[in-house]
Parts: sequence; C-alpha cells; structure tokens
Amino acid sequence: MEKIYDYTLSELEELLVSFNFKKFNARQVFEWIYKKAVLDFNEMSNLSKDLRSFLVENFTFSNLIVNTHQVSKDGTEKFLFELEDHNFIETVLMRHDYGNSVCVTTQLGCNIGCSFCASGLQKKKRDLEAYEIVLQVLKVAQITKERVSHVVVMGIGEPFDNYDKTMKFIDIINSPYGLEIGARHITVSTSGIVPKIEQFSLETKQVNLAISLHAPNNEVRTKLMKINKVYPIEEVIRASKEYVEITNRRITFEYILLEHINDELKQANELSDLLRGINCYVNLIRYNDVVEFNLKGSSEERANAFYLKLKSRGINTTLRREKGGDIDAACGQLRSKKT
Ligand code: SF4
Repeated sequence: MEKIYDYTLSELEELLVSFNFKKFNARQVFEWIYKKAVLDFNEMSNLSKDLRSFLVENFTFSNLIVNTHQVSKDGTEKFLFELEDHNFIETVLMRHDYGNSVCVTTQLGCNIGCSFCASGLQKKKRDLEAYEIVLQVLKVAQITKERVSHVVVMGIGEPFDNYDKTMKFIDIINSPYGLEIGARHITVSTSGIVPKIEQFSLETKQVNLAISLHAPNNEVRTKLMKINKVYPIEEVIRASKEYVEITNRRITFEYILLEHINDELKQANELSDLLRGINCYVNLIRYNDVVEFNLKGSSEERANAFYLKLKSRGINTTLRREKGGDIDAACGQLRSKKT
C-alpha cells in the first residue's frame, strides 16, 4: 500500500491520470486530506465511486502515535511520536506573535555529531520518509487544533543528509491545495554541507536557509562541529555568498553562545569580519545545557556584550530568547528520549 501523505500534488496527478482519472481529482484529494483533514476516502463525497475504491485499495493514511506530550512554561510544546516501525522522534511546537511554528525531525538520530547537541548522541538509524515529516506537522495541528503557519526543519537530523525527502516534504506542505504553508515561512537549517547548499541555491522555491555556524574560525568550529573538517568555514561562507547572489535572499547564520569558547569579544570582531558584506542575519542563541556535555551556555551579560559588538559592527543580529528549555525542547536538546 502507498502512503497518501508521501505524494506531492504533481505525483498524485500523474498517478491518477495514468489510471484514467482526471488531473483535477488529485487537487480534490489534497483538499480533503489537508484542508478538511478527512481520514476516510469513502467520505470524500465529490469523488467518483471508482476513484474512492481505487484510493481505498491502494493508499493508507499513516499515523504517528503520541507517546509523550510536554508543555513548557512559555507555551512551547514537545511531542514524542512513535513511528509505525516503533522508532521514536521528537517534534516541537513554538508559539510566536506571528503564528505557530513547528520544528520537524528529518532523521532517526544524526551522524554529524556536533559536540553540543543531544540529537547527535544517537547515531543515524535511517532517514525519515517525506510522509513521516508531513505527519509531524499534521499531528501537531490536529492535537492543538491550531493552524501551523511556519515550519523550521531544525529538529533531529541533518536535513541536507536527507535532501530529496526534505524537498519533497516542503513541496507537499507548500501546496496551495494542501496545508498552504508559504515557502517564505519555511526554514531549512544545515550544519553546512556545501554541495547541498549549492544544490539548494538552485531550487525554485523561496524557502529560507539557515546555516549553523557557531564559530568565527576553523579552529573553534572544528572543535564544535566535526563536519568542519570536511567543509571548512571558508567553503561554507563561499557557498553562503553564492546562495545569496543566486536567490537574492537573506541567509541566517545560527550561533550558539558557549561561555569562553566562542563568546569572546575578539571573536565577535572576527565573526563580523567574516560576514561583512553578506546579506545575512546572525541568530545568537544562548546554549541550553545538555547533561552529558561539559559545556556551559554564555551568561546573559556575555551574550549581550557579544550581541552589541556585532550590532556595532553593522551585522544584523538577534539574540534569541530560547523557548522550551525547561522541557528539553530547545535547540540542541532533542533526542527522542522515551519516558
Ligand atoms: S546540531 Fe543538527 S547536525 Fe549537529 S548533531 Fe545536532 S541534529 Fe545533527
């Protein structure tokens, strides 16, 4: 049986036409499953009997089972979902004044192994399928009964190590006949896999790109992110500049602040020199402690000083108030921990 949530609109159109149904039937199916959240093909009253039978015989609606659901003091919610193969993934809902944002997971575990990240403690078992990523968004909307307006691909895993399925997921949630989440409301975050940044620059959808930089030079970055040995910082910056040139879009650099590791003022100077002239945003995040690591997040004072230094040197910067730290739902804290 095929998974209905694994199909993009054009794939479904192609399939239905090949079975002598009409192209527009695919749009109707999309509207039923995504706009009306109907989970029974027989209830899709504007479809012919033949089409309903075809769908029933060939497609299933997959499900995620909620194992744990935690709510933070700040309204952030974290879900531990059980997949059909009984593996577990985490998904986070963040409430902002501009709408609800869901942070999705793209892999079971992660092989990048950043030294500050709980997700990387579990080696990758497999990539998630597109429908398993789609289901995270659907399930959160269904449970909270609230619209999801933004999606960040920043949960467990390196999305560019699961590139095709991540792109397919984006296509599905972006469809105007489906969830209609605008490309500009979708952000993909990568640890800096340069060939994939180059590929992403050529995608036609106007999706946002965030790069986990976390350091102003190779020495510090390699300590924090092994991937820097493969794709050193100057390569990441070169690919980022090309992305901005090709897409005409602003790029975001994520920077987790770790006390006395990457939060010295001279490092802020070095960072601003590195990024000078790039149409970018630096998103500073005070590190959330992860019990296994001997790393400390920057104090508020040091974080503010770093922020002000970057601002004074003309870099667009935000110092993010972290959400969900009390339920281990913040950046670097996700790990699919079954309770
Ligand atoms: S920060 Fe991202 S890429 Fe690095 S180990 Fe964690 S999940 Fe993987």
